[in-house]
Amino acid sequence: MRVFDVVVIGAGAAGLMCALTAGQRGKSVLVIDRANKVGKKILMSGGGRCNFTNLDVQPNNFISQNPHYCKSALSRYTQWDFIGLVAEYDIAYHEKTLGQLFCDDSAKEIVDLLLNECNKADVTITTRCEILSVEKNESGYSLTTSNGEYECESLVIATGGLSMPKLGATPFGYKIAQQFGLNVLPTRAALVPFTLHDKDKDTLAELSGIAVDVYASCNNTTFKEAMLFTHRGLSGPAMLQISSYWEAGDSL
Ligand SMILES: Cc1cc2nc3c(=O)[nH]c(=O)nc-3n(C[C@H](O)[C@H](O)[C@H](O)COP(=O)(O)OP(=O)(O)OC[C@H]3O[C@@H](n4cnc5c(N)ncnc54)[C@H](O)[C@@H]3O)c2cc1C
Repeated sequence: MRVFDVVVIGAGAAGLMCALTAGQRGKSVLVIDRANKVGKKILMSGGGRCNFTNLDVQPNNFISQNPHYCKSALSRYTQWDFIGLVAEYDIAYHEKTLGQLFCDDSAKEIVDLLLNECNKADVTITTRCEILSVEKNESGYSLTTSNGEYECESLVIATGGLSMPKLGATPFGYKIAQQFGLNVLPTRAALVPFTLHDKDKDTLAELSGIAVDVYASCNNTTFKEAMLFTHRGLSGPAMLQISSYWEAGDSL
């Protein structure tokens, strides 16, 4: 049985950031991931260049049933804190439209930054490790895994959402929430392209690859950005953004 102050399950952006912060606060930290390597979604993000933050991050950019949570979270760690960290690592970056910041070279630099900060804070990371059970005990939590038993005072579930199962996404977080009696809301896709019915796809096939600036509106929200015709349907920033406000049957 190995004992840590904190065990973080999931070595994505959230899990690594949480682990390095706990480590910097003097906690002994273990990160467990079932994948063969950490931060796979970060590596894919921003077309491989990771749109790592935005110059104009505001609480109202986030969709939440509790908008006050975003206010307090964003005031405690701002975009300028992360930009400062990126600068410390001499990672070259540039601004695209609407304040979006991307690495000049590769998203791997962001993964390396997070891993290096974890290393500096003595965080232990273990990959290819399956969680077999999680139980609450008197002093915290006990975990049975494919690598043995662990105990911790604080357990963080950072296993992400359901998007991109090929990159290791699982419903683990929702299952643990249910195990501990938390109310889990139905999930739905967000920030996704739209797929057209076959008839419309055929009609619009010739436009595939063309981008136009549009106002995309749905349910009283509008985004003025580019829309891209693809061989499957409609994509580009305007459509990805408005998808978070659209449900089947709504008109756009
Ligand atoms: C194509 C694409 C492009 C994107 N581009 C951007 C961008 O440019 N900028 C941006 O800010 N966001 C972008 N995003 C969104 C961003 O990647 C995610 O919001 C972010 O990576 C989520 O981080 P996370 O740590 O919450 O979850 P994840 O990155 O999903 O990490 C979860 C981790 O938990 C592990 N895990 C899952 N189940 C288990 C289990 N049962 N046991 C152990 N480990 C488990 C997984 O292997 C994974 O490593 C993009 C997403 C996609 C899909």
